[in-house]
Amino acid sequence: MLQDKDRIFTNIYGLKDRTLAGARARGHWDGTADIIKKGRDWIVDEMKASGLRGRGGAGFPTGLKWSFMPKESDGRPSYLVVNADESEPGTCKDREILRNDPHTLIEGCLLASFAMGAHESYIYIRGEFIREREALQAAIDEAYDSGLLGKNAAGSGWDFDLFVAHGAGAYICGEETALLESLEGKKGMPRMKPPFPAGAGLYGCPTTVNNVESIAVVPTVLRRGGEWFAGFGRPNNTGTKLFAISGHVNTPCVVEESMSILFEELIDKHCGGIRGGWKNLKAVIPGGSSVPLLPADIAREAIMDFDWLREQRSGLGTAAVIVMDQSTDVVKAIWRLSKFYKHESCGQCTPCREGTGWMMRVMDRLVKGEAEIEEIDMLMDVTKQVEGHTICALGDAAAWPIQGLIRHFRDEIEYRIKNKPGIAAE
Ligand code: SF4
Repeated sequence: MLQDKDRIFTNIYGLKDRTLAGARARGHWDGTADIIKKGRDWIVDEMKASGLRGRGGAGFPTGLKWSFMPKESDGRPSYLVVNADESEPGTCKDREILRNDPHTLIEGCLLASFAMGAHESYIYIRGEFIREREALQAAIDEAYDSGLLGKNAAGSGWDFDLFVAHGAGAYICGEETALLESLEGKKGMPRMKPPFPAGAGLYGCPTTVNNVESIAVVPTVLRRGGEWFAGFGRPNNTGTKLFAISGHVNTPCVVEESMSILFEELIDKHCGGIRGGWKNLKAVIPGGSSVPLLPADIAREAIMDFDWLREQRSGLGTAAVIVMDQSTDVVKAIWRLSKFYKHESCGQCTPCREGTGWMMRVMDRLVKGEAEIEEIDMLMDVTKQVEGHTICALGDAAAWPIQGLIRHFRDEIEYRIKNKPGIAAE
């Protein structure tokens, strides 16, 4: 279990002073200029040594991503854009950073931007996050007033401006290129890649888009060293991680833990166990709504990291753990996710626009027990036609929960068709 001395987020529950004075007392903004004086390459190398993989879900190595940014400007500015559009069902970790520990994110923006040659950074925040935006903006204002942002930020010699952009509540704007479109004032629709943002991102300039948590851990990683961070978890799955556990546990929570923690340990130590005891566990979605669910027997063995969950054909995603006990109508639960993805599809590409609707309608019939047995395979077939055939990952996100359902709970779907319980989908 992670010890308190190794926690990066020291005010994740908002119990302590979240102002700049409080953040400083907890060790933030300590020696920021000295870190910057070590130079750009040192920072990128240290981030590579930490093994940090993107905390927004994709798990791409952060240091490597930064190294794609141009070393010399060709006349265009470089940008860091922070993705605070946390909208995935079940995911509620970044909001705790935004409202309770915003200074570690702001300091991280300065350090990361310097490492990528960016003098400006934008934090794109989810439309529904009103209080979070207010807390973040207040912290940014304080940082400006104290000389930590702006000209010669934190006395580092690096000029740096940080802006907050507020979204309008579309899930798809959490996709990095849709986010850039939205930031530019256009409709939030994903772009074709390539070009990747490091080549042509915001306003056609080199851009890196990182998740809130990925940037917020940077100051501590640089202060304590990449090797320290790499000491947690398993190789290729290092560091500490915010887990957001919801559903049928006794005490749902957001908690920072070591990567690769065992699922049972995570639930017993921090969530007071499964509601009704371990025998009552039915299924777990381990990484936010887009990853396939795991049945209880596999979930109980789970090592909570990128590689182990990938091997089980699921994923760590955002580490938003949704726990479902035996009272759950798992077919209906996945149907609800299908409805969500259908609603949030931007409609730009045919497999997603048509496929999400098609999948949702079949799921609707499965919930009611009105489908035929053959339609289960047909539905699986449609998910395969959507998966990997779309511009962005929303198509995959819509397909995977259904694939997980069919893979692990086919008997429950068949039982329902054979017994036609007439359970209404709402
Ligand atoms: Fe839009 Fe869906 Fe295509 Fe993504 S996959 S670009 S959300 S239609």
